[in-house]
Amino acid sequence: MGTKSKLLLAVAVLLLGLTTATIINVSLNFREYSIASAIEKSKLTAEIVKDGLTAHMVNGIMDKREYFLNQISEHNDIKSLWLVRSPNVIKQYGEGFNNETVRDAIDTQVLESGEIVQNVVEKTDAIMLRITIPYKAQAYGSQNCLSCHDVQRGDTLGAISMELDISSMRNSGLVTLLKILGINLLFLVIILYLINYYVSPYIKLFSNLQEGIKKAHRGDFRHKFESSVGGDAQSVIAQMNTLFGKMQETFGDIKRNLETFIPQGCSASNDPLYEANSIIGELSDIYKFKKTIELDASKHAVYSRITDILKSKFAIKNFAFYEVNNITGERTLIYISSGKSICIGDIVDADATQCRAHRTKTDVISTEFENLCQTCNAKQLKYICIPFSINSDASLILSITAQEDVELSRVNAKILNIKNYLEAAKPVIESKILMDKLRDTSLRDGMTGLYNRRFLEEFIDQIMSQANRLDTSYSVMMLDVDFFKMVNDTHGHDVGDKVIVALANVLKENIRDSDLAIRYGGEEFVIMLHNATNEGTLKVAQKIHSEFGKLIFDVGVGETLQKTISIGISKYPTDGDTIWKCIKYADTALYSAKNTGRNKIVEFTSDMFESENF
Ligand code: GH3
Ligand code: MG
Ligand code: MG
Repeated sequence: MGTKSKLLLAVAVLLLGLTTATIINVSLNFREYSIASAIEKSKLTAEIVKDGLTAHMVNGIMDKREYFLNQISEHNDIKSLWLVRSPNVIKQYGEGFNNETVRDAIDTQVLESGEIVQNVVEKTDAIMLRITIPYKAQAYGSQNCLSCHDVQRGDTLGAISMELDISSMRNSGLVTLLKILGINLLFLVIILYLINYYVSPYIKLFSNLQEGIKKAHRGDFRHKFESSVGGDAQSVIAQMNTLFGKMQETFGDIKRNLETFIPQGCSASNDPLYEANSIIGELSDIYKFKKTIELDASKHAVYSRITDILKSKFAIKNFAFYEVNNITGERTLIYISSGKSICIGDIVDADATQCRAHRTKTDVISTEFENLCQTCNAKQLKYICIPFSINSDASLILSITAQEDVELSRVNAKILNIKNYLEAAKPVIESKILMDKLRDTSLRDGMTGLYNRRFLEEFIDQIMSQANRLDTSYSVMMLDVDFFKMVNDTHGHDVGDKVIVALANVLKENIRDSDLAIRYGGEEFVIMLHNATNEGTLKVAQKIHSEFGKLIFDVGVGETLQKTISIGISKYPTDGDTIWKCIKYADTALYSAKNTGRNKIVEFTSDMFESENF
């Protein structure tokens, strides 16, 4: 039952209760009043009769009293009226007329007791008051009964009995009650109508609000609030609609934006809030994962993190993780949980083309087709093999196995999430592979052990595109020993070489693994600081500058030598959109340092190359 029906029912019950109580109360009072007024009337009649009879007696016309009594009894509601004589009066005056004899026990009782007796007889068609009022002998004033009656004062002379029909009173009482009932029912109808008229819109508004809030609980903010109630209610409705509109728009935007990161979502919920929360949670986990692996020392450390995530976050128990060298076609096992690969062939250095997932570059799920992977040697197991390309040099294969279909389905539902982690790890792995490659290359300067200029020419594009992908920056420094020719000229090439090696060592000691130091020319070096701030770059430059300046070279015969360097600095990508340009700008800054006195650090500014055409 709705709130409105409940309210209307409660009001109706209350009003009907009130009406009933009123009617009962009125009817009881009316009955008492009717009887009391009938008694009063009979007493008055008794007085009139007494006075009339006394007058008859005094006037000596007692024999005419019957006419008088008939006149009285014909009056109004008196149904019957008769007199009864006491034994004393009978003894003195005889029995009297027919209507002056005892008719019932009440007459007898009154004659004996001298007290009024009354009785109300209610019948379906009528209500009667049966009353008998005694007459007592008086002995005062003009009415001295003792002058005619042979009795004592106070003796009962007789009584007057009457039957009064008080039905008309009852009827008028009933009419009154019906009127009260009618008026009350009319009021009831009016009140119910007014309640319905005024309360209905509020109840509708309330239900509408409830409905909107219920939908909002499910994440649906499209509900349109409306109400016919005016005034403040309209401004509440307008505010609620604005609020819900904003919520719908904002959550929709958040969901859409988040879906660009994780299109498949993270929960089966239709609630955009819950979904957004799950996606943010997932993104936050992936972000932390990415930040962690970026600082890992090697590619293998990253692989180890991936296996940890598969085990702990995705609760995958049985899986093998392979790396494929795309150049040699070799597949190398990185991790296996059970100790035995399900693939045919050696688990290390196998031919990667045997792997269906790697060859077809699609996920291979055993339930899709019988004996789908023909090289799988564990027919009783279910499997999902996921290929994942890192770059042209390397790919990964994740081979997950399960005993039961239900476990396989669980893993299958998580594949996209697993791929999100692999996707996050991809540039980091790529960077680690590149760094490994760089470290292992022969493109190094034999004298200093630093990368040489050829290395820069060969890898600068890869370094740059990786920097762009990872949104990282490089601070480029160009260093050159001041008046180096003099060292050669004065102390010979050997001393010159010593100075060059010493400077290279200073450079190595002051840069991080992720930075690059290159012997660019004879005694010219390029340093690329990875993701360094302006302040950090200057600090490194100053440290190199001062540490080299402190070095004392023994040039023989008790003589020593100290040298200084000049440094030019530019930033990629803020100063130039290619690293080559930035090297050139760093060189321009170095040129400026040389021209303005040497032994200093100069940062590149755009006005330095105004005359030049890059
Ligand atoms: P500036 O302050 O302007 O740089 O003056 P500088 O004399 O240092 O001039 P510059 O940088 O042009 O001098 C480079 C010299 O470095 C020329 C070359 O003889 C010498 N040089 C180049 N490679 C080597 C090397 O491997 N060993 C030695 N000992 N000298 C080298
Ligand atoms: Mg020089
Ligand atoms: Mg030079």
